[in-house]
Amino acid sequence: MGVIVQKYGGTSVGSVERIQAVAERVRAYRDQGHQVLVVVSAMSGETNRLETLGRSMSGRPPAREMDVLLASGEQVTIALLSMALQELGVEARSYLGDQVCIRTDGNFGRARIEEIDTAPLRKDLERDVTPVIAGFQGVDSQGNLNTLGRGGSDTTAVAIAAALGVDECQICTDVDGVYTADPRIVDDARRLDLITFEEMLELASLGSKVLHPRSVEFAGKYRVPLRVMSSFEEGPGTLITVEKMNMEQPIVSGIAYARDEAKITMSGVPDIPGIASKILGPVGRAPIEVDMIVQNTGADGLTDFTFTVKRGDYERALELLTEVQTSIGARELSGDNRIAKVSVVGVGMRSHAGVATRMFDALAAENINILMISTSEIKISVVVAERYLELAVRCIHSEFDLGEAAVSEESVA
Ligand code: ASP
Ligand code: MG
Repeated sequence: MGVIVQKYGGTSVGSVERIQAVAERVRAYRDQGHQVLVVVSAMSGETNRLETLGRSMSGRPPAREMDVLLASGEQVTIALLSMALQELGVEARSYLGDQVCIRTDGNFGRARIEEIDTAPLRKDLERDVTPVIAGFQGVDSQGNLNTLGRGGSDTTAVAIAAALGVDECQICTDVDGVYTADPRIVDDARRLDLITFEEMLELASLGSKVLHPRSVEFAGKYRVPLRVMSSFEEGPGTLITVEKMNMEQPIVSGIAYARDEAKITMSGVPDIPGIASKILGPVGRAPIEVDMIVQNTGADGLTDFTFTVKRGDYERALELLTEVQTSIGARELSGDNRIAKVSVVGVGMRSHAGVATRMFDALAAENINILMISTSEIKISVVVAERYLELAVRCIHSEFDLGEAAVSEESVA
């Protein structure tokens, strides 16, 4: 028995029936003696629909109005779920972000949560009322609605869990946990019982869509026990924890990928101080997010410079670089927007050498050319041609024996 925050994603509240099923599930938890606070997303597809509507009104929709528009999806689901709960005899109350109040920093479309007034929620819990809170939104100090960025309801849930100091924050979704790799690509991908915050943060930032990266950051910082579990089936899901104590640390815990990547290369760049800043400055100010950056050793006073951006930013980045090319007198500008990034993540890498070599060997055995490499303490990422993405994920998964079969063989032995 304890206080739990449960967050239900778009698919879990995608229809009248599903909202009713969520209400049943919440009631079942209450019947077990838990106190539950619920955070919901908009019905699946709704936020996309709203975004399209906004863009059909204006090529560059004003950010403030876009947030008012996008935040409306969650208003529908909190009301419907509260109604469904009341039908089941559970006293429920819906809350918009500004009614809680969830204070955000005023950055439209990518706001951060600064503070949450938990008083109304505590009062509800005292009276055995179930609060149903709109995810993905907050209000800034000027009273403007802000949204947290796509997928941001996870972050709302974790922030509320942190502010109240609850026993667990459960992200209830259409998958039953965090997997060693995307099960749509790898048949024998395995659900993880446990994963560390650090690893989860890397996986989420490197393309795994299970959790909003900021929610993991938040949970790690405030030590919120976080669980990813299915909305539809019973099961333990995956618990995200500080350290996997008493457990044999696998070297690699999981594989993430990002398909929507692009790379740009400027070659024959004068190898002099200030060149990286000249090349990346205009891109950064656009603002376009730059991910991997590689600069080669120079020869004859010239060097090559390659970096990656999100595919959606590719054209714009190329335009900006065309101007830079002329101004710095670089020989050639080229790019490729059909690339993908595949990453392996694991805290066990800290204590094991040779992980990169094994990964590169596995790719070489499949004749997959590595275009770029980047590493940090607990991850290794490679860029490959997009057409090799699935094969790359599969061969790395089997190289590190991450699958179901590998584990059951071991336990038999
Ligand atoms: N409804 C928002 C989105 O689709 C927030 C969320 O689902 O977490 O991005
Ligand atoms: Mg989501």
